[in-house]
Amino acid sequence: MTQDAIRINGLVKTYQGSKGQPAKTALKGVDLAIPRGSVFGLLGPNGAGKSTLINILAGLVTKSAGKVQIWGFDQDVNPRQSRAAIGVMPQELNLDPFFTPRAALEVQAGLYGVPKSQRRSDEILELVGLSDKAEVYARTLSGGMRRRLLLAKALVHRPNVLVLDEPTAGVDIELRQMLWDNVRNLNAEGMTIILTTHYLEEAEEMCDEIAIINHGEVVARDSTENLLTTLDAKTLVIHPENDVAKAPSADGIEGELRTDGSLAFTYRSGVTKAEAVLDMVREAGIRIRDLRSEEPHLQDVFLALTSSRPDFGAKSG
Ligand code: ADP
Ligand code: MG
Repeated sequence: MTQDAIRINGLVKTYQGSKGQPAKTALKGVDLAIPRGSVFGLLGPNGAGKSTLINILAGLVTKSAGKVQIWGFDQDVNPRQSRAAIGVMPQELNLDPFFTPRAALEVQAGLYGVPKSQRRSDEILELVGLSDKAEVYARTLSGGMRRRLLLAKALVHRPNVLVLDEPTAGVDIELRQMLWDNVRNLNAEGMTIILTTHYLEEAEEMCDEIAIINHGEVVARDSTENLLTTLDAKTLVIHPENDVAKAPSADGIEGELRTDGSLAFTYRSGVTKAEAVLDMVREAGIRIRDLRSEEPHLQDVFLALTSSRPDFGAKSG
């Protein structure tokens, strides 16, 4: 009995190289469990393997090895049930240009075997703000409207799990807001949401749990909160009374003079106390006019895990 929305074991994907191109292993044995009811973020730099993973879940890419269960259904054993449990809004704008939004939703509902009496195309068009475009050809829709339609298509069969692949890459603020409002509402109604995004502040704000993927491997997977505390780096920003030519540093305290004349001191709160930073500053003869502290952001965690900066050793499994 599983309470996971998605359970992935040993997932491998190797793309066969064509025309002399070498084969590319995009996923190198990924294990991942995504709990039901969560808003789950899949983060990673370009080429990390996020879309590959999502397209395997969607049934658009065939895996090379491993096991995928969606809502408890094994993709290979119960392909129909596992497919019915998931709706995917892909990264690519792959729409038939000669369908109207309403027709596109009806066709999609047909593909998923939703009976006519249970279809709710108008309700979904309303939800994504496309009611007034229901009867125009998709090719006349703007990029933003096409994205809305892709979201609508992902929802026609009332999936338990909604997957959004880079839904806000390059979209305007209004559409981004609409997407996040929808995500929050659908999640409140019980839908599990999985999303990939480049915007780390967005993941920090939206996601309960996060997996960071790099070069086809999961390098971190935790609650957003834990991930942020993994990296216990803190920064104390001091505005001095007088101009300072150079920020002092000490063992475990990295000083930096910022362009606005403030001094930023970064230290690990598990190792160094803020008091030690203040002592060092006073000993350097600097008088403090004002001070504040900065918390680490997901950006820092992400950099720590996906680059080889030697000053961060926070790799976890
Ligand atoms: P992401 O979505 O994280 O940017 P992708 O899953 O799109 O990453 O790509 C992962 C790796 O697999 C990249 O190196 C990419 O070039 C390669 N790749 C993706 N799709 C294909 C394909 N159809 N054929 C060959 N290589 C591919
Ligand atoms: Mg991608």
